[in-house]
Amino acid sequence: MNATALVLQVGFVLKENIGFTREFEYQIPELIFADGHTVTNLGLKMSAIRTPLGLELDGIVSSDHIANCSRCLKELPTRINGPLIETFHYPAKQDEEFIITEGGEMDLGPLVRELLVVSEPSHILCQTDCQGLCATCGSNKNTENCDCESDNIDPRLAILKSLLDN
Ligand SMILES: [Zn+2]
Ligand SMILES: [Zn+2]
Repeated sequence: MNATALVLQVGFVLKENIGFTREFEYQIPELIFADGHTVTNLGLKMSAIRTPLGLELDGIVSSDHIANCSRCLKELPTRINGPLIETFHYPAKQDEEFIITEGGEMDLGPLVRELLVVSEPSHILCQTDCQGLCATCGSNKNTENCDCESDNIDPRLAILKSLLDN
């Protein structure tokens, strides 16, 4: 599916009184955003509340994601979850980022894309004691024993070691 799957027709909610709430829930196996980025098992669950400004959204977006261990770069399948809290303005004002068209269309694509990016974990380890990659030869120290060990020694310890060696 392409990102037009996230263009919702919400005209019927806008016709309701202030305070009216409608729940939306979507599960999309694969979605390709306008910029080509593809996500799998996208989940979107939110309430849309009619307010004087338009629609206030309150919910959660989630998707499957392949993260890399921060130390050894091993691929780790994870699930991203991020809060979706935003107001889509109606009637639209020019300076607002998120708007609903006169025809009642609300495009969640750019917002969901942005939320999934900011929700990616920035620091993740394959195991708490991951040994990482050798800075000298690049081998994975969890599975290989290279001979570069002494080159990786903490500079402060290196001074101590040179004293001991003499
Ligand atoms: Zn690792
Ligand atoms: Zn090495």
